[in-house]
Amino acid sequence: MYKYLFGPVPSRRLGMSLGVDLVPRKVCSLDCVYCEAGKTTKLTLKRKEYILYDKIIEELTLYFKNNPDPDYITFSGSGEPTLNSRIGDVLKFIKQKSLQYP
Ligand code: SF4
Repeated sequence: MYKYLFGPVPSRRLGMSLGVDLVPRKVCSLDCVYCEAGKTTKLTLKRKEYILYDKIIEELTLYFKNNPDPDYITFSGSGEPTLNSRIGDVLKFIKQKSLQYP
């Protein structure tokens, strides 16, 4: 159903946490031996719109329309989310959607 969102999953620290993937699997600036996502397949420092802003916003809009707001939204999952050059725009969108996210 969702390609770039996962959860929300219950977290002892965060409550209900919705995950958002901003990069494809294992696009990362590091290759940590303990990585739960496995070996990095694209080791890079290059920032770009790895997953299109419009695709992420489309899924978030659908999610917010049909579900209660999660307690937290987490950028994580498959790699290094700050490599996505539109992460700031995604953050702005989420803040506009709900005042609960400072
Ligand atoms: S996703 Fe996190 S843990 Fe995995 S290699 Fe990248 S920085 Fe390390």
